[in-house]
Amino acid sequence: MKPEYTPDGSSLVLVYLVLGTHPQKDVNVIGLLTTQLPRAGETILGHKFFIGFGGKGANQCVQSARLGAKTSLICKVSTDLLLDYTFVGQTTDAATGTASIIVNSEGQNVIVIVPGANLLLNFEDLKRASDVICKARVVVCQLEITPAVSLEALKMARASGVKTLFNAAPALADLDPQFYTHSDIFCCNETEAEILTGIPVGNLEDAEKVGCMLLERGCKLVIVTLGAEGCMMISVEEPIPKHVPAGKVRAVDTTGAGDSFVGALAFYLAYYPKLPMEEMIRKSNCIASVSVQASGTQSSYPYRKDLPQDLF
Ligand code: ATP
Repeated sequence: MKPEYTPDGSSLVLVYLVLGTHPQKDVNVIGLLTTQLPRAGETILGHKFFIGFGGKGANQCVQSARLGAKTSLICKVSTDLLLDYTFVGQTTDAATGTASIIVNSEGQNVIVIVPGANLLLNFEDLKRASDVICKARVVVCQLEITPAVSLEALKMARASGVKTLFNAAPALADLDPQFYTHSDIFCCNETEAEILTGIPVGNLEDAEKVGCMLLERGCKLVIVTLGAEGCMMISVEEPIPKHVPAGKVRAVDTTGAGDSFVGALAFYLAYYPKLPMEEMIRKSNCIASVSVQASGTQSSYPYRKDLPQDLF
């Protein structure tokens, strides 16, 4: 079957590559462009306002699908949206999750997430989706749902021999240690790495240090994304940290670059499992660096047909 997917994502939770596709409709990212970011208590003038689609899981799912992956997602939204998709639960007990994002003229952003219905996704919902989880090639989880539910999904996947990619975002200082041991790949950005380890990541040396610390907690492979610098990777198989640089590009808006990277990596894990990890990361860097050259989140994610064919 030819993979199909609409670009519209939903406030998402988990991405299951390979099985059926579930086009989602949701409006939950509000963007504001300003020349500078406001400080606490400050009111500033912005010059552009837009509403888009998002949620980390949805973004990652959409990026994977645009590269050609068959994807499935499991999430919960409010009944304020008209939806009828197999694993998209609905609830009257909370509003659909939203994120307000402010972007400055350098393309940097600040984000406030209100998870709403995301936090009502529960173990029962996972049980209903267990067939999808246990037959996927890759399961991707983040922390925009209740952490215990995310962890349970990783455990279910692991128990069935499914590869797990955990994106520790938004980060929790007191992350359950089982997240490390149930992640085949543990991926976080610099800020998240600092929250997890207490070490600020200001240069490649710091990134090496936090990578080693996270690996010692029980992951098989750690990736720390470093914005324009690309990524630092370290694995049990190759315990010497390796810097995988990103290409030099002119960034317009880096919002969602991390999700583009994770979505692309999930695609390569599912469809090109024999590629060396460094090569998967290099290709994922390329795809994420395309996304930072356009504004918006999902709207900036490239399609396979528009990418150099040597990425496939
Ligand atoms: P966000 O939270 O905005 O989604 P993030 O902080 O999680 O992003 P980053 O580490 O900023 O993620 O970026 C993820 C990946 O995107 C990087 O590893 C790199 O491949 C690519 N990237 C980000 N910024 C740039 C840039 N300025 N130039 C080139 N590539 C970039």
